[in-house]
Amino acid sequence: MLTITIREGREKLLLKHHPWVFSGAIEDIDGKDGCGFAKVVSHDGSFIAYGYYDEKSHIVLHLLSWNIDDTMDEAYIRTLVKRSVLRRRSLFGMKDTTCFRLIHGEADFLPGIAADCYGREIRLIVSSRFASAFLPAIAAELDAMLHPSIIEATVDRSFASAEGLPERTRTFKDGIECGEDSSRGNVRFIEDGIIFEAAPGRGQKSGFYCDQRDNRGIVEKAAAGRTVLDLFSYTGAFTLHALRGGAISVDAVDSSESALRHLLYQVHINEDEKTIAPGSREKVTITSADCFDYIRTVESGKYDMMILDPPKLAKTKAALDNAMKAYKDLNRVAMLKIRNNGIIATFSCSAAMSVENFRMMLSWAAADAGAEIQLLRTLSAGEDHPVRLSFPESEYLKGCLIRVIKD
Ligand code: SAH
Repeated sequence: MLTITIREGREKLLLKHHPWVFSGAIEDIDGKDGCGFAKVVSHDGSFIAYGYYDEKSHIVLHLLSWNIDDTMDEAYIRTLVKRSVLRRRSLFGMKDTTCFRLIHGEADFLPGIAADCYGREIRLIVSSRFASAFLPAIAAELDAMLHPSIIEATVDRSFASAEGLPERTRTFKDGIECGEDSSRGNVRFIEDGIIFEAAPGRGQKSGFYCDQRDNRGIVEKAAAGRTVLDLFSYTGAFTLHALRGGAISVDAVDSSESALRHLLYQVHINEDEKTIAPGSREKVTITSADCFDYIRTVESGKYDMMILDPPKLAKTKAALDNAMKAYKDLNRVAMLKIRNNGIIATFSCSAAMSVENFRMMLSWAAADAGAEIQLLRTLSAGEDHPVRLSFPESEYLKGCLIRVIKD
């Protein structure tokens, strides 16, 4: 095992259990290996934590355990996987939901790996060299615990080049890595009783945004009798919930044509299976467009409910200033266009944007739009995407349900 000494004064966050160590915080590495488990000590030699070092990773050292009695080996990684799954024991009993997160990266003490289950399938998203190195062990443990039909792992595009990871899909059956099965069809799953399908291979995220599950229920309750605009709709999960909630109509807009086609397909499936009311498909329109432009063309007063769920606009803290402008502009125009007393469910999935900044952005947008806003509910990811308080970066999804008042 390597021994890594942290520079004096740079150990404070580490002692508070923040798991990321960048190369600038390292004073010395005792050992020749470019990657491997490491004992991490402060400048006076006292134990801080165990971690995994990889000189080729953009975060060279990920801390894994602050307990000196733990043994760092593959079995320990499997234990972390097991604990993560067991923490979600109650979710397996849900009657109407078969899609949820099993491992939420650093928040579950497993850096750079997310695991979602989709009924009998498990899909992994790899965003660190650590996760890539231990993928067979992670898959083997998930298989031993849950016996999925298949485990499929894709590399998160936004981290592939920084981590030097090839963007290939790896699949595991019975816990053993195997070649891709090109005949594999969509996997069907349910979220709160609504039917969805995800195609195999690299879609967005692991195929579905299960982090929004609770918020879709809230949107559904608020949608009755409303004319809804679902911006950044992807495959229409909010659209379907709004329809079931009794929306008069839903116009869905996204830049991805294939996502929009899939949205219509899913509306059809749900109408056929009677999970949404007959005639629902006539209430939906799809438009492929850039939502930042599209919102400007919307007729004022047409909608009394909007969903704004843009992709991650601030990829880093440095990009936050520009991203704040984009978020503010989007929300400002939405507030201008929506009917008096209309409801907006607005989100940011940028970890760099704090809850406070998000609220401040909304209040500035409202002032510029000449509107008052009432915060009806604070929105966040579900409990299968926990926020680890020693790692504030895990609070990436934030949202507000607001009422826009213009009289
Ligand atoms: N609301 C969705 C998830 C949205 S993810 C759900 O609940 O499932 C963000 C979506 O924004 C993606 O579908 C992506 O295709 C789309 N997107 C990204 N940039 C866009 C842009 N400039 N205009 C329109 N859509 C965009």
